[in-house]
Amino acid sequence: MIDLTSKRILVTAAAAGIGRATSVLAAEYGAEIVAADIDSDTLSELDSNNIATVVLDGTDLAAVEEFFLREGKFDGVLNAVGIVHHGTIEDCSEDDWRKSFRVNVDSMYYVLRCIVPIMATNGGGSIVNMSSVVSSLKGFTNRFVYGATKAAVIGMTKSVAADYVDRGIRCNAICPGTVDTPSWRDRARSLGDALGSPEAGYREFADRQPMKRIGTAEEIAALAVYLLSDASAFTTGQTHVIDGGILI
Ligand code: NAD
Repeated sequence: MIDLTSKRILVTAAAAGIGRATSVLAAEYGAEIVAADIDSDTLSELDSNNIATVVLDGTDLAAVEEFFLREGKFDGVLNAVGIVHHGTIEDCSEDDWRKSFRVNVDSMYYVLRCIVPIMATNGGGSIVNMSSVVSSLKGFTNRFVYGATKAAVIGMTKSVAADYVDRGIRCNAICPGTVDTPSWRDRARSLGDALGSPEAGYREFADRQPMKRIGTAEEIAALAVYLLSDASAFTTGQTHVIDGGILI
């Protein structure tokens, strides 16, 4: 039985996609949500009884530290800031490399650095980091730096889990396949342009997954809510794959 009443949960990248769906679902299960994102317009649509919104750039360490000083204690965190760079190693300039690591890895490191000591002194908590099946688990074409950043997310997840298991902190990673979110729609449209029709772009992504469909943000949110709840109290340091069968 999943129950998030009495849990205060931070969701980053909350304005769109998986972060948004997780904020909404966790609030339905009774959590008090602080939803953070850089995009103030779409974020403000989430404002409601048990969802408070905060504009926060996850790559700004000073802003993240100030946020935690102000907001204090959380029982759970979904760390979800991330971008996708399209290309091989030959397409990845040093700027592309640094930007992807700044957004996908530094942002999660900043949140972890702030929340871990808070949770450790408050009896623990559950941290969920958004990785991807494209990581140390699987190589996909044209995901050179993206895969490297998501492998780093798995490394951070396992390290925090190992160091803090005896302080009541659980730290897990979610590794989705392709999921229908605003940024994925942009990627599918670009591929469709190259292939000659929008449908061809969507189909190419769907065909990568043995279930022959794209996942929904709500399906990933259900896993995130489970990991944030006490129903998952016996799991830590794991890569929870949810990918339409890619890693069968
Ligand atoms: P999305 O990419 O459509 O939206 C991401 C959100 O992150 C946006 O609201 C954006 O404003 C916010 N954001 C971007 N940079 C930010 C920053 N510096 N600070 C704060 N917020 C920022 O959503 P999505 O596709 O659900 O992606 C969420 C996470 O899930 C990412 O880490 C992504 O890598 C991961 N993921 C997505 C898929 C997929 O197929 N969609 C698959 C595997 C993993």
